[in-house]
Amino acid sequence: MYLKLYNSKAKSIQEKEFEELVASITSVNLKEGYSFETIKAFTIMVRTELARRLNIYGGTGCSRYKGCDLCDEPDHCIMFDFEEGSVEDIYKQAACRTKGTIITFDGKPIKPFFHYRCGGATENSENVLGSKITYLRRVLCSYCRAIPDQNSEKQFTVEELEQILNTRIVKPDNIYNSILGMFEDIDVDDQGRVRSLRIGNKLFKGNELMELLQLNSTRFNYTPIKFLFKTIGMGHGLGLCLCGANEMALIGKSCEEILGYYYTGIKLEAMEIAEDGKPLKGRKFVLDSGCGDEEGNDVNLDIVLNLARLLQKDGATVKLTREDDSKVALSDRAAISNTEKPDFFISIIQNTFASPGVSGTEIYHFRGDKESEKISKLIIDYVSDAIGSKNRGVRTAEFYLLREVRASAILLQLLYITNPKDAEKLADSAMRQKAVEAIHQAILKYYCP
Ligand SMILES: [Zn+2]
Ligand SMILES: [Zn+2]
Repeated sequence: MYLKLYNSKAKSIQEKEFEELVASITSVNLKEGYSFETIKAFTIMVRTELARRLNIYGGTGCSRYKGCDLCDEPDHCIMFDFEEGSVEDIYKQAACRTKGTIITFDGKPIKPFFHYRCGGATENSENVLGSKITYLRRVLCSYCRAIPDQNSEKQFTVEELEQILNTRIVKPDNIYNSILGMFEDIDVDDQGRVRSLRIGNKLFKGNELMELLQLNSTRFNYTPIKFLFKTIGMGHGLGLCLCGANEMALIGKSCEEILGYYYTGIKLEAMEIAEDGKPLKGRKFVLDSGCGDEEGNDVNLDIVLNLARLLQKDGATVKLTREDDSKVALSDRAAISNTEKPDFFISIIQNTFASPGVSGTEIYHFRGDKESEKISKLIIDYVSDAIGSKNRGVRTAEFYLLREVRASAILLQLLYITNPKDAEKLADSAMRQKAVEAIHQAILKYYCP
């Protein structure tokens, strides 16, 4: 999938591959020193933020640059920094491993707030943003506590405070004795994070003060010699604590566990990014039509070639184990699939039996392969319906191909060449096409239920 990105430096619209953009934005925002699971978690956060701009998730693209999905201007389309540059492999790998995964709440992508270091507990959204966001709940974070240098200080004179905050402070005779009348209505949560505070004649939210005074955190206190603001942690405390996340990764937690810890009640889901008319975009199939020397060989190839065309038209990538009537060894057919790593390996051949009375369609898959079982059940129902063959059911087997192919693999034995009626159907190209269309429809049904 490609996005149209407005590049404000180049003043031009650029086409960017979605997952490359995820890797690139992750590398710019995360910098070095994070463990792989933290990087993976971050790619999911970036992808989630990008997904929010997309139409299918209720986004409308960039409102500043018409026709663009997003722009690279700070704090406009996405909350992450964005700049061009080479991207190291580790970020690409992380994006690839989490490909398509986003964080959702109630089926919609969340706003993946994060901060550098919470200092002991993250924050409820209402204390920072003023509104309640269900997935932004306070969680205790002992993880980042172990990291030294959490406390930092900043000093301001009364005059400086008055100027920066645009407030008037009534000075007592002796400033060293009392801050009464200067700092009042102090609301601090049990973690020491300042929710709000009156300075002079104005009430400030902790978050506001953090930004105006450029403090590192909303956990601070002060002393009335000049004013010394001591902070714990870094940032507003909303959502994911990066330092804590990295500590979790270092003790073996997965990116799923990390995200689930900091974002309350969320789910990790696959993005639905099928393009119009391309429902199988991004899917890959290896189609197999036997070794090339068995009976019914030419019809097998014909069926597989036609099926490949239909799947490709829907955006799928298709690889064939053979494209003409040449012979391919069993081990080579498995090897082709293992190189290609498809979503499904589908082998279509015909059956034989000593007794001509036996007829019908059957499908085999490896025991325990639930996805193969699911798609097989769809295919056999659609096919036997379309060509009026006997539905002999979906079965498990340990055939060489099912064993050796490392993808989900199914073996469709379409009809019995040894049965006169089945053989007649096979010889009929219109009937074969019906079978092909039925398999195609079943595959579509599997992906778009
Ligand atoms: Zn924008
Ligand atoms: Zn933390």
